[in-house]
Amino acid sequence: MKITRGADGGILTLLRSLYRTGPATRSQLLGDLETSRRTTCAALERLLSRGLVCEVRVPPQGLGRPASQIQLSPDMAYATGIAFGVTRTRAVITDVHGRVLCELEDNPLVLSSIEELPSGILSTYDRLIHSTSLPRDKMVALGVSLGGFMDDKEGTVSILGLPHTVEGTQFLWSEGTGKSMPLAQNLAGLSGLNVAVEDRPRAAAFAEKRFGVTRESDHFIFLRVGSQDVSAGLFLDGRLYRGHRGVSGEVGHLVLSPDDGPLCRCGNRGCLEVLSSGRALVQAVLAGIRGGINSSLLLTSNPNSGELTAEKVVEAAKAGDKLCWQVVYDAARYLGEAAAILVNLFGPEMLVLGGLAESSGGLFLHQVSDAVRLRALDVMSRNVRVVESSLGPWGPARGAAALALEKAFSSGGCLDKLLEESPSRC
Ligand SMILES: [Zn+2]
Repeated sequence: MKITRGADGGILTLLRSLYRTGPATRSQLLGDLETSRRTTCAALERLLSRGLVCEVRVPPQGLGRPASQIQLSPDMAYATGIAFGVTRTRAVITDVHGRVLCELEDNPLVLSSIEELPSGILSTYDRLIHSTSLPRDKMVALGVSLGGFMDDKEGTVSILGLPHTVEGTQFLWSEGTGKSMPLAQNLAGLSGLNVAVEDRPRAAAFAEKRFGVTRESDHFIFLRVGSQDVSAGLFLDGRLYRGHRGVSGEVGHLVLSPDDGPLCRCGNRGCLEVLSSGRALVQAVLAGIRGGINSSLLLTSNPNSGELTAEKVVEAAKAGDKLCWQVVYDAARYLGEAAAILVNLFGPEMLVLGGLAESSGGLFLHQVSDAVRLRALDVMSRNVRVVESSLGPWGPARGAAALALEKAFSSGGCLDKLLEESPSRC
């Protein structure tokens, strides 16, 4: 049977409801769904007999017997999320509730042309699938998080002419070509899966909403300091905000020091990206060392070898290295200026710091909190909480998997094969 809207015997409606709202009692399901009670009952019995949903006992609120609720069986389907970063690739397989069952960490993807992107992604997917004994026929969704500009409506990924090559480790195809490709469509055609593509900060923001510190918030901004960039995932009015063509949250190109700031790859001077990103930290420390300032990093890293990383700078700052502490302090101060602008513009309830800003032992958190308090309008700053991400570097991969699952349950794609392949337990 093909599951389609209006012709699914209530099955897709029921699955979608359980996915979105979580466990529910039989009477809630029978009362809430648009389909008739008879249709819902028949769909429920069919799903129970196939093991795609199950009954769980929940403790009573007060006196009385435990209640019985229906939920999606965790192993009814699986999703894969892969986040391609500049320094690492991280991939996860999750169950239908978003619990991580398998992780893979790998070197960054290196491509020589945009045409290699789908096969590069699918080879990572295959390595992950082969590292686990989970049944391949239950894989229904693949989420991909990348740098670059994503257009989720069109399913395309493009760079729009921004030179983006980073020391041979980033996606070489993006070097000033302005090329784009229908990545989601290509991957779906090659894999037979529901595919979602999303940029890193938005995937991370979605993960925080589903599994992290912003589960209860519908108005928040995920502010991410990456090794090469600074970006924001906007979650506004209960949904991801993507902008007109899938480009939004480019906070890294807010110009904060136009007169004497370093030159940015976008052509402007003094963008946030060249003041607060991981690369900016490294450049500032190297400049300090060349200027004769002593640093503990000289004992562990050769400043001319390229082995100095932003993570080492942050660790040295946390350990009390004066040069590194000052560099991180300055970067965090600029990030705070940008955060105050975002708070004034969007009036969020929460501001979540991710990437390097989340692993700095509170250095970024304190500066950003202070800047928001001092610079944003009082009516805004009084109502916003600045916090660190709770999901760490795995957030984008988990968010990508969740976005792909969302797509699967919205469209019903691939779910019909589960009904065909799941033997009846009657
Ligand atoms: Zn810029």
